[in-house]
Amino acid sequence: MDQSFHTIIVGAGCLGTAAAISIAKLISGRGHKASDVCVIDKMVVGSGLSARHSGIVRTANADPTAAVLAQRASEMWADLEEHWGVGIKLENTGALWIARDTGGGRNAKWSGLERSLNEKGIGFNQLSLADARQICPDFVRLNDDEVFYHEPDAFQVDPSNVREALYAAIKKSGVILREKCEVLGFERDYVGDIATVVTSAGSFGCRYVINAAGPWSPSIFAGTGVSIPVSVEPVHVANWLTSLNEMPAGMPIIADYVNLAYFRQWRDGEIHMHQPRKRGIRETARAFSESPLSVLGADFMNDPTNQALGYSQMRIYEELARRRFSNIDQTVYSSGYRSFFDITPDLRFILGPDHRVPNLIHSLGSGQAFKYAPVLGEMMAEYVGGGGPLAGLGLEFSISRFSDGYMAEFWSKVQGCEHVLEAEGTGL
Ligand SMILES: Cc1cc2nc3c(=O)[nH]c(=O)nc-3n(C[C@H](O)[C@H](O)[C@H](O)COP(=O)(O)OP(=O)(O)OC[C@H]3O[C@@H](n4cnc5c(N)ncnc54)[C@H](O)[C@@H]3O)c2cc1C
Repeated sequence: MDQSFHTIIVGAGCLGTAAAISIAKLISGRGHKASDVCVIDKMVVGSGLSARHSGIVRTANADPTAAVLAQRASEMWADLEEHWGVGIKLENTGALWIARDTGGGRNAKWSGLERSLNEKGIGFNQLSLADARQICPDFVRLNDDEVFYHEPDAFQVDPSNVREALYAAIKKSGVILREKCEVLGFERDYVGDIATVVTSAGSFGCRYVINAAGPWSPSIFAGTGVSIPVSVEPVHVANWLTSLNEMPAGMPIIADYVNLAYFRQWRDGEIHMHQPRKRGIRETARAFSESPLSVLGADFMNDPTNQALGYSQMRIYEELARRRFSNIDQTVYSSGYRSFFDITPDLRFILGPDHRVPNLIHSLGSGQAFKYAPVLGEMMAEYVGGGGPLAGLGLEFSISRFSDGYMAEFWSKVQGCEHVLEAEGTGL
């Protein structure tokens, strides 16, 4: 064995990096050194899904536990210096949520969300059309048959600043970073724990393994008999170059649930847009059954031929953008790319210890993980350290919920696709 660590983290995306930093802090006070933590990436820091997020940090969430975690994460991003020892520039734009009026000038579902979020101290309040106009640039179309909710504490960051912060925080923490080092497999001891992580740069002993390899997880862990139900759903991003004179006071993040698109102000006066994850079980099942992960692991994401935005997709986005913005006709398409949401069968996180391998702990996103990174890092530290309030919150996201029974029911809901996931898992 080349070296031994207290904890090895597989994957240096935003979740893996956050876990490494928090675990190093925790164990440094308990007779270990930060350098007893090693984060490994087969490419470089923040080069997976974390290379393609939109940098939006919103707390409002229909899932109450996710909302609590997002709230804590927002506080941590705002005070990153305290938690990671490095700062990051936040753009405090707030977010405007737009929905259809379902009657009486309200949206029934969102009024309920407003109440439950307010009870948790999360700002999310309906605005009149006139007030919504006040916070948007003139070119944003807001219509009479829509309703508006304001999340004043939402903010955005420039993803390139995030990547710099990840590198700076790793350096500051004293964690060992091994880039361009591929995890190839694992050796287990007599109780079933992972004792050794086998990589392209040698074998490393460890007490704990954190799986933060996102959509690569199924192929990495297949050899240990651990199936991890993660797949990807492709999505496109487009950036439209607009006049800086049209955005004198900036633009709030716009979560447009009428046209199903998110918009934010981006570098260089651009409007950045992408569509949200699809929510239906059929679409989720399709992403699993057609998953290219089974053939190539998640490496197809890094394939340059797979990253461009096609002409017809550009036209679809142009049409969506035109519905919301009056200035898109004179706007230049600036850039775009294909990206991927990491998804699970119920579109929720996989967090916490694995029920089959005692010292394996998962930290996988569910398509919107960037914003949760600092709080999930702390949660991982609590799991390694023997528990705590965040570890308690993580219990409902345990991978054990995807038992055979769960997956059988999942596939039975999707006619004609039964057990495709199982077939896929055995093919890996
Ligand atoms: C268009 C779009 C916009 C988004 N916008 C937002 C947003 O505004 N806010 C938000 O919160 N979320 C957003 N997301 C979601 C967010 O991008 C992801 O949920 C998040 O980046 C996932 O991070 P991760 O650390 O789990 O995974 P990754 O960043 O994919 O990290 C996994 C790492 O594992 C490494 N790896 C793989 N195999 C191996 C191996 N064998 N050995 C070692 N390392 C390995 C990979 O190289 C990779 O670096 C967006 C997603 C999309 C598609």
